[in-house]
Amino acid sequence: MLDIKWIRQHQEEVQSAANQKKIKVSVTELLEWDDRRRQLLQEMETLRQQRNRLSREIAALVQQKNSTMTDLTRQQAKEVHAALDKLQEAYQEAERQCQERMLLIPNIVSPDTPVGSSDKDNVMLKRVGESPCFDFEFKDHIALGQLHQMIDITRGVKTAGTRSYYLTGSGALLHRAVQQLAVDLLLTQGFRLLEVPLMVRTSAMMNTGFFPLGEEQTYRIEGEHQWLVGTSEVPLVSYFSNEIIDAAEPIRLAAVSVCFRNEVGSAGKDVHGLYRVHQFAKVEQVILCEANLETSEKMFGEITGHAEKLLQLLELPYQVMAVCAGDMSQKTYKQLDIETWMPSRGAYGETHSSSQLLDFQARRSNIRYRDAEGKLVYCYTLNNTAVASPRILIPLLENHQQEDGSIRIPQALRPYMNGQEILRPPV
Ligand code: AMP
Repeated sequence: MLDIKWIRQHQEEVQSAANQKKIKVSVTELLEWDDRRRQLLQEMETLRQQRNRLSREIAALVQQKNSTMTDLTRQQAKEVHAALDKLQEAYQEAERQCQERMLLIPNIVSPDTPVGSSDKDNVMLKRVGESPCFDFEFKDHIALGQLHQMIDITRGVKTAGTRSYYLTGSGALLHRAVQQLAVDLLLTQGFRLLEVPLMVRTSAMMNTGFFPLGEEQTYRIEGEHQWLVGTSEVPLVSYFSNEIIDAAEPIRLAAVSVCFRNEVGSAGKDVHGLYRVHQFAKVEQVILCEANLETSEKMFGEITGHAEKLLQLLELPYQVMAVCAGDMSQKTYKQLDIETWMPSRGAYGETHSSSQLLDFQARRSNIRYRDAEGKLVYCYTLNNTAVASPRILIPLLENHQQEDGSIRIPQALRPYMNGQEILRPPV
């Protein structure tokens, strides 16, 4: 959410962000409704004063036993009441129209965000590591998963429907190992680990900027006003909702969570294997900090750096992409995606997404801190994936496969895999 006064002063910039992000909202209409709302508020105030004056007059007239004037004034008061009721109704409607539009108004876009309408316009900033050159016929993660009896899509679909899977044996171990490696990395970087609710209220989804636009992506718990989270960013940010925090130092939070996404707009897309599934696990980093662009940029470098470090520990080649405005969500001010080399796709695939949100989420969630002058200010928030699995298993299995079908475990992962250096297919 942006400040309405700020929107008024930056109408073009806000409308341009909405257009670039393909969000159907008119800033002009919003401001017209806001004008109307404020005008009605003034009119209501005038009538309230009139009503109060008439009440005092009636009381005095009753004392004076002046029944003719009392009746006349009572009649006037009745008319004022009726007019006030009408105004109140009109005000509520104007308020509703404003609120509806305010919830659609997107965050502005950072000046260094590439212009563009889809991920094709994202700009590669750097590439790290070499993609492997196999001198044998390499297998994709599904074939490797079957060979090692670690991925079972058939039974996943049998039990849970499309985009479902089982991870078994060393597949399940690898899934947990990458998450614990990420958690341990974040703990050395001053993050506080939280176990978070995965079923949240509508308000938490709304306040963190996932609703109203992402509602169809989210599983609702029938009969309850609760939703299954698609990311622990929601409960992590909401932890501080309606609170005044101490932002003297950035607050670094992490969580491991299951994420649920119904992937409603992705019919027919990435249907093969583990790339796009309905349920996955994610270690998430969230930072809340003072409302300062320099600090936000520094924290952005920090959380993006953690994702890069993780990929380096996993010995995987990756590239960092500046995400263009048209590929960014409503709440995002600036975004970098990290894509990891996936041999079976013959391409880099997104494995991490790092975002700066300025005070967009904090304003909706009402998270403030006191600045040096003691003034209450909305803080800034940022988030990034530390690791998301099973998607990360795609590059992990595929890049580290050997000619005989075995899989080399990167050094940093071995302590989490009972010291195993290589996974050999069961005989
Ligand atoms: P996001 O929270 O949308 O920024 O996504 C963060 C990361 O979660 C992505 O970069 C992917 O690695 C992973 N991810 C997102 N959606 C899915 C999905 N449907 N299936 C598997 N992994 C996903």
